[in-house]
Amino acid sequence: MKRQTKLIIGLALSIISLCFSILLITDAIPTSPKKPKYVFYFIGDGMSFNHILGTEHYNTEKAGASETLRLNFTQFDTRNFVTNYSTSNLVTDSAAAGTALASGVKTANAHIGVDVDGNELRTIADVASELGYKVGLVTNVGINHATPSCFYGHTSDRFGFPALVDDYIASDVAFIAGSTIMDMKSGPQDPKYKPVTTAELAERIRTAGITITLDVEEAAKTEGKRVVLVAHDKVNEHIPHVIDRASDEPHTMLNYAKAAIEYLSRESQKGFFLMIEAGKLDYSAHAQDAATTFEEVNELAQAVELALDFAEQYPDETLIVVTSDHETGGMSLGWDKYQIRMNQLVGQKHSMAYITKAIQQMRAEGKRDWNEYKQLLSDYLGLWSVVPITAEEEALLKHDFYDIFLKYGPMVDGLYNRNEYLAYHAVVILNRHASIEWTSKYHTGMYTPLFVKGVGEKRFLECRDQTEIPKTIATLMGGEL
Ligand SMILES: [Zn+2]
Repeated sequence: MKRQTKLIIGLALSIISLCFSILLITDAIPTSPKKPKYVFYFIGDGMSFNHILGTEHYNTEKAGASETLRLNFTQFDTRNFVTNYSTSNLVTDSAAAGTALASGVKTANAHIGVDVDGNELRTIADVASELGYKVGLVTNVGINHATPSCFYGHTSDRFGFPALVDDYIASDVAFIAGSTIMDMKSGPQDPKYKPVTTAELAERIRTAGITITLDVEEAAKTEGKRVVLVAHDKVNEHIPHVIDRASDEPHTMLNYAKAAIEYLSRESQKGFFLMIEAGKLDYSAHAQDAATTFEEVNELAQAVELALDFAEQYPDETLIVVTSDHETGGMSLGWDKYQIRMNQLVGQKHSMAYITKAIQQMRAEGKRDWNEYKQLLSDYLGLWSVVPITAEEEALLKHDFYDIFLKYGPMVDGLYNRNEYLAYHAVVILNRHASIEWTSKYHTGMYTPLFVKGVGEKRFLECRDQTEIPKTIATLMGGEL
């Protein structure tokens, strides 16, 4: 080999090795990403891909927009999907899925904050507290319902509501808001199942020195004390669905989220971890009520908007995670031949649950004229007025109408809902006109979505299962689960 060639090869090798050295050094230098000082963890209970996409089409139709109106979180750069099965079954419930999302461990259905053997699990809220973050939990169902409970509670029975209140009292949760404190009406002889009222559970919280209030403003402004904000502290009653409520209703998931952000921003020096659950979304999906579900998804997006506004002030310190625990209802878009007709839903003004109550009220008042019930379905769902109802469909509804008086039930059972058949079938007919069909009154094993924006967002692209989400958040915060 000529000397010149040797020299060139030598030089080339030197350059290559220099490049490798630089690469290695660059890799070794910590990129020092900032830790997320403010973590928002959104959980749409029962919300999967079709609930989200359906909401976008529904909004577009309602607004008469020519292009699809996208929800804020679907536009995040970091999008993923995860598995969500439990150790009991390929179909999880909100307790096992909530435990997975809070503790990063798979467990059996009905288990909250414990593994399959009943061992207590550390949660992402524990990690946050240990690191000096203030913890807040917001939901629009009970504060001791499955999803929020998974962030502070430990029990193998998700319906052991009083024990979960005790777990909450013993926890580090600084701010919690929800519709009510769920009571225990009856149960087996076991002392933990003794009947306890919501009022008694509220008193238990008050006695522990925790502020409990029905005033959203007061909760937001409370200083130096733990706060429980509920719509009802005497009765086990939920706040209305978004589609049913008055425009000036103070008790909404959105207002709870605002109050939580105000409280946590003021009360925390080292940052906060805030979980926000759209819990009523699961209720309307169990009922198989599409428009009601879409409006619940909309409120979740409004709460995400709050987080996005907050992130504008602290862009290098905020992390926003939007996910779900499982899919509810097996919702499909396109029941009819290659079609979706969201325009059929624009006349729906109330939920199936609300219509059930209205029907029961009319029955109690002795109203027995089909035309009055027909008018109700027209006013509240847009049947006949927006949606053309066939003679066969009217015959089916009329059959349910007669049953109201002949049978006084049975009701359609969907876990959280006991609806009148007339209300149920009217909504089924309406949904089918929109070409939406539901395949389950419970949960399905479908993938759940994951949308992330902010500090360390790309790390979430590695998540394959929902258990990896809280672990990733913990790692980014500088802790471990
Ligand atoms: Zn559910």
